[in-house]
Amino acid sequence: MTAWDPALLATPPVADADDRLPPAHKLYALRTLPMGDIKAIGFDMDHTLARYRSPEIDELAFKKAARLLVREHHYSPWLLEQDYDPAFAVRGLVLDGLRGNLLKLNRERQVVRACHGSRPLPREEIASIYGRRRLATAAKGFRSIDTLFELPESHLYARAVDGLDQGILKAANYLQLFHDVRWAIDTAHRNGEMKAEILAHRDFFIPLDPQLPLALDRLKREGKKLFLLTNSDWAFTDGVLGHLLNSQDEARPHWTDYFDLMVVASHKPLFFTETPEAVPIEGQTRVFSGGHTAWLETLLQAEGEQILYVGDHIYGDVLRSKKNASWRTLLLVPELERELKLLEARSQDLRELFRLETARRRTQRRASVIQDQWKRNRARRHVLGPRLSTEAMAALDHEATQLAVSVEALHRRVELLSLETQGLLSAVEAAFNPMWGPIFRDRDEQTRFADQIQQYACAYTGRVANLYMVDPQATVYAPVPTLPHERREMVRG
Ligand code: IMP
Ligand code: MG
Repeated sequence: MTAWDPALLATPPVADADDRLPPAHKLYALRTLPMGDIKAIGFDMDHTLARYRSPEIDELAFKKAARLLVREHHYSPWLLEQDYDPAFAVRGLVLDGLRGNLLKLNRERQVVRACHGSRPLPREEIASIYGRRRLATAAKGFRSIDTLFELPESHLYARAVDGLDQGILKAANYLQLFHDVRWAIDTAHRNGEMKAEILAHRDFFIPLDPQLPLALDRLKREGKKLFLLTNSDWAFTDGVLGHLLNSQDEARPHWTDYFDLMVVASHKPLFFTETPEAVPIEGQTRVFSGGHTAWLETLLQAEGEQILYVGDHIYGDVLRSKKNASWRTLLLVPELERELKLLEARSQDLRELFRLETARRRTQRRASVIQDQWKRNRARRHVLGPRLSTEAMAALDHEATQLAVSVEALHRRVELLSLETQGLLSAVEAAFNPMWGPIFRDRDEQTRFADQIQQYACAYTGRVANLYMVDPQATVYAPVPTLPHERREMVRG
């Protein structure tokens, strides 16, 4: 049985404390972040400095990849008729390319929700396929949906699986579809068509954020070395960041004025594990292609924990930079603003869920104590029976009947409370996403995505511009970690 914790409720609105930031503007620290000790701050570009208009950019990738499959791999033109559904997938899911499934995992890496193609799988079917086994997602045939770029890939794969199941598409098996869709999405990114279209309509696809140049400028004025570390190529990077940062500040007319060092085509995560040589970009100063961690640290004259890296990719930006380079990490979670709004909008329901669950647990506990009194009564009757007077026996039986009636009433109440909780919980989770619920949790459990964030990110936030409100010399404190017995005010039951 499940209920949400009141600790999840959004903080009160700005009005009741002048210096309180709205939740969407906050930086949430998981590890205490001494900003004063940070010498260099690096930024990823795509979905970090640049927030692309979604779902339009996802639909662009979906359509381009579908066209490639039809044109180059002779898939049925039926694929071109498929509409992109922005609600179909969320970040943190895992594609199972062997079975044609998309999975949501809890922090134990057990499957808690799934769909085959675009058909949701009932819990019994999930249990019969995956059981309660810990899923090895690094195995061949699995793919983590770690960035927003992978949402269209999941949806295109699901539609292809539907097409294969319906006999419309021809392929050897689900795995072949999986590889073909991967190829198509990869090609759509690499062949330049998608990037050309984004740049041709940059006003539409890349909304400006007036607070972004302010945030970068504040950090730079406070003596931090700023660097860019992106997998995008030079031409695209120049186009995107020129659009976002050129002419925003008289003191820094060109976007490159914000950065001490720029690395494009960086091949993350390999940037953190291998040592390819950095190549200067012709005609530019301080701009390189490729390179590796040790080279970058030498140029920056900063290393390990003196470097904070800001990126949206839980694996390529955050996990690898923390594990291999010991950098501090700030994960960008563009979905956070929406999740916070929903938590706020559903705060009454969340309180009600907590009340229902507390009542259920208490009722259950009371039922079990009364049940035990009934058992003791029956044991007494058995042991003492022959020695009891008729009146004492009748009194004992009367008490047993009353106890049994009470237990039954309490069990009925537990059932009703469970049903009420289930109904409300399903409605709350569906508000986040009808198929997947919230990205950070499922019922009472945290997701694999939430677990990865907690393991590898020092902090997370919704947009880079939020750094403007962070004092570059102060410490951002993480909540003190507590074990359940230390949390007095939150204990249930
Ligand atoms: P970053 O997030 O700034 O490091 O850059 C991400 C880059 O990777 C962008 O240029 C994307 O277009 C590109 N990208 C995303 N997915 C794929 C893929 O599947 N294949 C090749 N490039 C990709
Ligand atoms: Mg990125």
